[in-house]
Amino acid sequence: MADIIHLLPDSVANQIAAGEVVQRPASVVKELIENSIDAGSTMVKVIAKDGGKTLIQVIDNGCGMSETDARISFERHATSKIREAGDLFAIRTLGFRGEALASVASVAQVVVRTRKPENDLGTELNISGSAVESQKPVNCASGTSFTIKNLFFNVPARRKFLKTNNAEIKHIIYEFQRVALANPDVEFTLEHNDEEIYNLPRTSLKQRIVHLFGKAINQNLTNIDTETSIVRITGFIGKPEYARRSPGEQFFFINNRFMKHPYFHKAVMSAYEKILPPETIPSYFIYLEADPDTIDINIHPTKTEIKFENELAIFQILMAATREALGRFNLIPSIDFNAEGAIEFPIFRHDEPIPVPEISYNRNYNPFDEELKIPGNAGRRDDENLKHWEKLYTQEGIPISSMDMEAKSSPQQSLHIGNISNSDSLIQLKSRYILTPVKSGLMLIDQRRAHERILFEQYIRSFAMNYPVAQRTLFPETIELDPADYLMLREIMEDLHAIGFDIRDFGGNTVVIAGYPADSRNENPKDLLEVFLEKYKSTESDIKTSVRERIARSLAVAGAVNYGETLSQAVMQELVDGLFACESPGYSPSGKPIVVIVGIEELEKKFK
Ligand code: ADP
Ligand code: MG
Repeated sequence: MADIIHLLPDSVANQIAAGEVVQRPASVVKELIENSIDAGSTMVKVIAKDGGKTLIQVIDNGCGMSETDARISFERHATSKIREAGDLFAIRTLGFRGEALASVASVAQVVVRTRKPENDLGTELNISGSAVESQKPVNCASGTSFTIKNLFFNVPARRKFLKTNNAEIKHIIYEFQRVALANPDVEFTLEHNDEEIYNLPRTSLKQRIVHLFGKAINQNLTNIDTETSIVRITGFIGKPEYARRSPGEQFFFINNRFMKHPYFHKAVMSAYEKILPPETIPSYFIYLEADPDTIDINIHPTKTEIKFENELAIFQILMAATREALGRFNLIPSIDFNAEGAIEFPIFRHDEPIPVPEISYNRNYNPFDEELKIPGNAGRRDDENLKHWEKLYTQEGIPISSMDMEAKSSPQQSLHIGNISNSDSLIQLKSRYILTPVKSGLMLIDQRRAHERILFEQYIRSFAMNYPVAQRTLFPETIELDPADYLMLREIMEDLHAIGFDIRDFGGNTVVIAGYPADSRNENPKDLLEVFLEKYKSTESDIKTSVRERIARSLAVAGAVNYGETLSQAVMQELVDGLFACESPGYSPSGKPIVVIVGIEELEKKFK
């Protein structure tokens, strides 16, 4: 029989890669302005027409490209930014995958004009759907100008998928804001349909924020500034009373790259706990700097989801730093007075795991509680509070009730438990329970319920923040559903997108899945969707619970670790840490106990 496997032509391979890198005009804008920054530009101009669908132009005054480089830059995996695998751990540039230009050129008509400052003549290159149409010398300004016309002209299905011009330009603005915030020392302009949207001179970070978000924000910011051996945190956070009803002014940057980080968001939110008007979300512009060696930016082609080696420690540091900054608004005391503001962080060593730093401050401070306003009281109250926690855990065999947990997300809790379990002391029993000693006895955690709880809260967070954390399937999967399920699915399609599903309706009871919410244990999207639909159906009679909560709950059940699954130390540790970072670690989303503690006394009795 003849051989049947062959390599895809580059143009097809590029189009497949483009599916990941170029989702919409805004992705093109992001990639191009990031390239301009990497090229050392001090001025970047963005011009868009019709939401970027007709035209995107990015002009910079950076280092430009030689004739040959201009040509090669459109090859896949062509980059000037890394040379070998080792460089991946020391990335300081925004790009490094060498995929963007190849991807963009495979789905659009591209003209680039570029000149290196030291050359007299520049070069102009025309590419359409990956095919080079012409290259010739030109007179042009030094720097680079990219013109992208008719995005997806050769992929009608994707072009159809684009939203209205208004919606698309909004996405462009978001991407623009992110890069502009990361580079206040670069001049930026943005123009849409001949109208200027932003004209940002080079300035301080605070002024950049004001230029982007309006004068009103000026008096409502305070700076945040902390340096430890693991991370340096700077930037600005907003006053609680300035908090908005809808998200939009929450920004994290890592080494000057915008990132989404729901877990760190939670750290900031916990610092604001109880001082925010109901259902509002504070503004923040927080810049982390960490050794590139300790982060992984390579997990997704768009590079906005980033993994940190020291996530738990940074969580604590970030929360403490935010509280300290809020303290400057005189709203809450920043740090426990007994500790005199001295936070001790360990020296960073590459070969050793970082222990969770212990920060003590008075979580229970309530500005309206007269008695607590006396600083000297703070420490003592804290101890009492700890004792209270101890009591909670020593009630033999009684699971932690989420109702008992007024202070359920208190850091004491996560620190306390975290410290005890942060070792190799996790044991899996019957592929069902995770066992670990705690101060007051032996703690048993139901692995499946723990994971359900973690996923549930993560999904609820995704909804609230509009931050779906998704993973993509290797190949989009076509699924035919029975007509009722299909109709039900169509009704909740929007919500499923908001939680991280990339599902498209293909009509005739058929959908195509190209991505699904991250962290699901079930990595078969078809199976995940089917189990989810089953669960979701069974909640339909529950009219008291909102659709989104039912979705989160059903999806958590569908994606959680199963009983009978053997877990590695690392996975168990992740489950334990994740669980105790939850708002309500005591009960599964359907109300069943997750944690049981068998007290020392009870054990001792048994040995009598
Ligand atoms: P990456 O940014 O990951 O290296 P790209 O496909 O985005 O990959 O770009 C490929 C290469 O083209 C870059 O490494 C850089 O050398 C060059 N390049 C792209 N844009 C510019 C620009 N605006 N100015 C100078 N060089 C550029
Ligand atoms: Mg790039």
